[in-house]
Amino acid sequence: MPLEPAHSSVPPLNSQQVLQPESATVQETETVDVSSAALWRHVGAPESSPRYRRCANLTTAAACNWLVNEYDNAGGSPPLCRCCRLTRTLPDLSLPNAELWWLRIEMAKRRLVSSLIGLGLPVLSKQSEDAERGLVFDLLRSPPEGPHVITGHADGVITLDVEEADDAWREKRRASLNEPYRTLLGHFRHECGHYYWQRLVENSQWHATYREIFGDEREDYAASLKRHYDNGPPADWGQRFVSSYASSHSWEDWAETWAHYLHLVDTLDTARSFGLDGERVELHYERFTPDVLGEHDDERADQFLDVINGWMELTGVLNELSRSMGVPDFYPFVLSAPVVKKLHLVHRVIAGAASTSQAVLALAEAA
Ligand SMILES: [Zn+2]
Ligand SMILES: [Zn+2]
Repeated sequence: MPLEPAHSSVPPLNSQQVLQPESATVQETETVDVSSAALWRHVGAPESSPRYRRCANLTTAAACNWLVNEYDNAGGSPPLCRCCRLTRTLPDLSLPNAELWWLRIEMAKRRLVSSLIGLGLPVLSKQSEDAERGLVFDLLRSPPEGPHVITGHADGVITLDVEEADDAWREKRRASLNEPYRTLLGHFRHECGHYYWQRLVENSQWHATYREIFGDEREDYAASLKRHYDNGPPADWGQRFVSSYASSHSWEDWAETWAHYLHLVDTLDTARSFGLDGERVELHYERFTPDVLGEHDDERADQFLDVINGWMELTGVLNELSRSMGVPDFYPFVLSAPVVKKLHLVHRVIAGAASTSQAVLALAEAA
């Protein structure tokens, strides 16, 4: 089954396009309870099919366009959708720009969560669904007197410094850290990589393989980061890591690689939903071949490589288009053979966690 388009951006509010919560796909809906306009069903669906309510954040600054199954009580009353219920803490919305920043943050989060659901990964609220292993987001604003909020993850809690939603502030930070790419969505994809490492890799069947490929995470974390910020990355980082920050510690390497896996799966999915794919472009890279993956037991590894090679060709063209417009490269990264091997482990971990992630491979079949 191919991955369905998972666009989770906010359509015009008079639109009846909404995000269907079980499959993370966009659907047309119509109201079935006209008297209260409270219940919705997909256009053309039989009467016995599920009915939904709109997310309670439809009418807040978050402007959420997701649905909640009428029998799903975990989102409270009025119900919050699977994405909105993950937000545990909000900053003071009466402060300047706070509502605009919240909208930008929730839009990025909806894009993230629709991808995670589409991949079949567990996405449950630590607050209302799975206190031990669930996930929540604390969106925090630094007080003027400090200390400054630090974006990060700890035990299922993703903290975001909401100032990252201020374009000017984020760009300044990006330039000062010499990063080629810094976005809200990138932050979320990176931080959830730490969360899923804890859930899917730590003490699992993958842990030993993880250490072989990503190095030993027991190396002193604080000292490693300090070394990175004091001395910079090793000179050859580009041959071994997807970003210079990934070279700071094994956990950061995993989170950065995980984020890139989500970048490429989501972007290829979007491209394909509009009839675009890397295989039809007139740009030819030297393709990655099976030997870059080393030893593994993935019988469908060739299809994984097709996805990666399609990504290289598509982003090559998109980068050329960016240059034609005089804007920064669409995908300002280079995938080396060791990085492809790391991406393959992320892919296998996700495939092992979710049978529906076979859908990722359909990207290759459709190419
Ligand atoms: Zn919502
Ligand atoms: Zn990190």
